[in-house]
Amino acid sequence: MAKQQQTRRKHIPQRTCIACREVAGKRGLIRLVRTPEGVQIDLTGKKLAGRGAYLHPQQRCWRRALENRRVEQALRTKLSAADRERLETFMATLPDSEVESTTEGEA
Ligand SMILES: [Zn+2]
Repeated sequence: MAKQQQTRRKHIPQRTCIACREVAGKRGLIRLVRTPEGVQIDLTGKKLAGRGAYLHPQQRCWRRALENRRVEQALRTKLSAADRERLETFMATLPDSEVESTTEGEA
């Protein structure tokens, strides 16, 4: 049952959403960073130093990542109450759509 995992990693400019495991260009994902002040949301693109994790800008991915502790696993840290609150507050601003809106005219 033990899956052989390749330890060799190629340098690819794509990132994986820690919730749904879908790969996307890093511009399509939001980066979370573990900093000395806790887990921050890196929206500046300035690349805050620290261990990072990526999530789609969709509530369902954030919710899943928070519920499954994937954020904590990915960042190898414990979310404090303040961290969790910060992430949940941010999550509330994200769209909750299950599917990308198509070019369907919605008048
Ligand atoms: Zn995702």
